[in-house]
Amino acid sequence: MLDDKLSVNGDGDCPWASQPRTVQRVASAKLPTRFGDFRIAGYRSLTSDEEFVVIYKGEMNADEPTLVRIHSQCLTGDVFGSIKCDCGPQLHKTMKMIDAEGRGAIVYQQQEGRGIGIINKIRAYALQDEGADTVEANEKLGFAVDARDYQQCAEILFDLGLCKVRVISNNPDKLAALERAGLRIVERIPIEVDSPEPAAHYLKTKKEKLGHLLNS
Ligand SMILES: [Zn+2]
Repeated sequence: MLDDKLSVNGDGDCPWASQPRTVQRVASAKLPTRFGDFRIAGYRSLTSDEEFVVIYKGEMNADEPTLVRIHSQCLTGDVFGSIKCDCGPQLHKTMKMIDAEGRGAIVYQQQEGRGIGIINKIRAYALQDEGADTVEANEKLGFAVDARDYQQCAEILFDLGLCKVRVISNNPDKLAALERAGLRIVERIPIEVDSPEPAAHYLKTKKEKLGHLLNS
């Protein structure tokens, strides 16, 4: 059963949960998907024009270690099925994991291309066509390798009523950032999907240059 009742618990283990937020929930609705039934909520940043989406299901409880993922928008992978990266299959696998668990949340962060935007991501892809890897391409364009900020993603999870989380991620920097934002990370759940070339090459770069925790 889907439950939109939120139980915000701002004391004890999770002092950050009761801090003033810089995001505001604007709307929420049911979202049945091919991967299970979810709810979807839209948030607006109060400090920029950024918008966020979160899909979630089950009872949100601050004391219950809950599956979460911060998924960064990847138009090419999530929508067009690009095999330059593994974003689409990771998103869908996460949705299946949360559906099987009956409880969890995915914050969909609209910071395309690790924060550089879709147009610049395409420029980076053009450099990759010439032989650069994902890190070299961003550096050539003058962008930080990873320009993402996770503070507001954490605030959204607090707003849902969560505090103790089991984070589905291979990115140690993301885990550290969520911890700094006040979430209590009780477990990291690795995620690996079968990656045909050229995603396998991209993942190798992420592992070697960005410290992602991948086995293969
Ligand atoms: Zn991607």
